[in-house]
Amino acid sequence: MASISVQELRRLAEEFVAAEPGRLDQEGWWRRPLLASAPVDARFDALPRIAAADHMHPRDLLPAGRSVVVFFIPFKKDLPRENRAGDRPCRNWGVAYVQTNDLINRLSQSLADLLGAHGFRCGLTPATHNFNEEKLMARWSHKHLGHLVNIGRFGTHHMLITPAGCAGRLGSLVTEAELGDHPLVETREACLLKAGKACGLCVAACPVTALTTNGFERRSCWDRLKENRAGLEYFSDLPESTHVCGKCAAMMPCSFGNPVARLESASR
Ligand code: SF4
Ligand code: SF4
Repeated sequence: MASISVQELRRLAEEFVAAEPGRLDQEGWWRRPLLASAPVDARFDALPRIAAADHMHPRDLLPAGRSVVVFFIPFKKDLPRENRAGDRPCRNWGVAYVQTNDLINRLSQSLADLLGAHGFRCGLTPATHNFNEEKLMARWSHKHLGHLVNIGRFGTHHMLITPAGCAGRLGSLVTEAELGDHPLVETREACLLKAGKACGLCVAACPVTALTTNGFERRSCWDRLKENRAGLEYFSDLPESTHVCGKCAAMMPCSFGNPVARLESASR
């Protein structure tokens, strides 16, 4: 088998995302993606405890898996800015969700194809809706994998805050390739509140008070996402699975970067 590096995967991801506006013949919603990897080691044994009791282990997806890869595709600033107004998501937030899920699925396949060309098999999962609708917990949580692979840290809003912020979407895969440990997270916590600083803006922004400073009413959030899809006339031509809101990611201190890292570098 020929070897392959995480830098080659990063380059492919960057080129793939940069080419998407041209493919769609539109301006596109995306900034440069981030990609991190970690060996399939004991850290992933924590998944049933920190995510869901029936969360899959990376080796359930690919028995010979040696590395987990997680990538994050951040949105350009204009999109969260547009989504800030009002209590309901704007149409473009829904369109970007649909297009980004498609982009994630095709990018995952493209990464798998590159790894496959080097002789390494991969295990993939879809970008979204791989969860139990009763428990509202994913059996394959890109967020929890991203936390373990150290591409970001959980915020009070229960999204992952990466060095490029939280406004964007995650994808992940498992591969037989030994890519090594390539974390990207810069600080122990990336959420201001969790780092002991003043914030809580995401809690205040939630239209259904699903967030508290130390809790998340998953059911209230999910009901709101479904209500948006069912009730917003301008979502009627989007797929049934367009379950979006995003108010807690719109123009927050953590939307486009890690605010704790910003504070730390300003105090140096
Ligand atoms: S808005 Fe503030 S409290 Fe909420 S996740 Fe971001 S940094 Fe943390
Ligand atoms: S996505 Fe919307 S409903 Fe869900 S927690 Fe964030 S702001 Fe609240």
